[in-house]
Amino acid sequence: MRNPNSRFIIAVDQGTTSTRVALFDLQGDLIAFHQECFSQIRPQPSWHEQDPEELYNSVTNSLDKCLNKFLEQGFRKDQITCLGVTNQRETTIAWDSTSGRPLYNATVWGDTRTKDMVTAAKKRHTHDDVVHKTGLPISTYSSALKLCWMLENVPAVKEAYQEGRLVFGTLDSWLIYKLNGGSERDLVVTDSTNASRTGFMDLSTRQYDRELLEFYTTPQYDLSRVRMPSIHPSADPVAYGSVRGGSLDGIPITGCVGDQSAALIGHRGFSVGSAKATYGTGCFCVYNTGSKIFDRQHGLLSTIAYDFGSEMAYALEGSIATAGSGVSFLVDNMGLAPNAAGISALADSVSDSGGVVFVTAFSGLFAPYWIDDARGTVFGITMKTQRGHIARAVLEAVCYQTKAAFDAALAYDDGLMLKTLNVDGGMSQSNNCMQLQADILGVDIVRPKMCEITALGACFTAGLGARIWNDTKEVDQIDLANNPEILRARRSDISGHEAFITWQKAVKMSRGWLSCC
Ligand code: ADP
Repeated sequence: MRNPNSRFIIAVDQGTTSTRVALFDLQGDLIAFHQECFSQIRPQPSWHEQDPEELYNSVTNSLDKCLNKFLEQGFRKDQITCLGVTNQRETTIAWDSTSGRPLYNATVWGDTRTKDMVTAAKKRHTHDDVVHKTGLPISTYSSALKLCWMLENVPAVKEAYQEGRLVFGTLDSWLIYKLNGGSERDLVVTDSTNASRTGFMDLSTRQYDRELLEFYTTPQYDLSRVRMPSIHPSADPVAYGSVRGGSLDGIPITGCVGDQSAALIGHRGFSVGSAKATYGTGCFCVYNTGSKIFDRQHGLLSTIAYDFGSEMAYALEGSIATAGSGVSFLVDNMGLAPNAAGISALADSVSDSGGVVFVTAFSGLFAPYWIDDARGTVFGITMKTQRGHIARAVLEAVCYQTKAAFDAALAYDDGLMLKTLNVDGGMSQSNNCMQLQADILGVDIVRPKMCEITALGACFTAGLGARIWNDTKEVDQIDLANNPEILRARRSDISGHEAFITWQKAVKMSRGWLSCC
């Protein structure tokens, strides 16, 4: 029997490869879901773009379809209390404030066209101050140089700048602007988790900083003339407006949060030392450091874990470029198995990697190593090497890099420790990979049964904004419909330790390949 008084929260998870919309009840149970893909535009090898209108359409289509699946179960639309948005971070959109139309494709976070601008920016004498203020390295990732590139190279963007019509935003700002009715309501907003990835925000004040705005541009541009989204806490009852038009007309938008923060929130990682790893295409590790901001010195970056206004926390974050994509490589390019689960089974068919170490540096190695000039390298192949050993070595590579990322996090302060690791993402479905991860880290792995953890984080955030829950303590006390599984760490033995040392040696040996050929 459906309870006519039950309330629900709808969450948009706008990711790099797909848009997901998930509808939850207040016990975090997934009631309805829809997922849609969109075009990936790659005009040149290192460029990666998406069409902002297509992204928005994928959101409205997914909202409609998810709503229909919900209504088909006998529920009513007025039982949906609020909406939360979570999104791929850093991806940059420039639009026209008068027409409300995009002026160029969205430049996706992984696009590296600003490589030379990064090199030039690193030579400026205020470079260290900028890293300190933002918690970020100067890199092609953050939105700042993506916007500067558009200003210098896209005539429509330049013209809008000159005429005072240029709006800059990340995906959250764009979607919330459009959901609110675009230029008519003209709501240009973001939250601090997203703003912290632009390169323009001071981590300690959680506001834009004049020095940062000046650092990125050439003297001919003044970024204070570009309209930037106003920064708000991720949970807010009014700042993000409400849906105007369409099937969800009138629903208040009360949550807005970047995807990695959303995953931590979805795991309810609200205490210092809570950690999560999302094993999707790449692996994103986040470690909650509470009120402490650490300088970038051990290969991780500092960011906002979450910001609910009265409660906020910082985090250390490490991104690993290759995780599930390494598994997909073995399926699609090497044909080792028909699908990802087959690779996991193949890896399980052997007791170890037979001495094979695969440094999966397909596009260099990210956190905590930051080696640009390495490429994928396999060590230790003998005439006895079988397909299972290669599959296992790819899974091990992800687990070793995850260990290296968390070792780096703990190196920031003597008081930090890792008690358990919360996991999610496609690759976390592999039992043997997650058991391997538990053994390599020496900590238990907590794996929720419900996979849409990022969307659940957006749901919790929206619920906090709508005052369904008053604080993180109340979210923590929710009796979840599905308890997570625990994979216990088997006592780490000396051979495990040696294997990690061997991995570190392989990483060292893979360095420099591009520069030596
Ligand atoms: P994203 O959100 O980055 O697109 P997902 O969280 O959907 O990624 O995860 C997809 C990735 O997970 C794929 O790259 C796939 O190879 C990997 N994957 C999915 N199932 C398994 C499995 N059972 N074992 C190992 N890897 C898996």
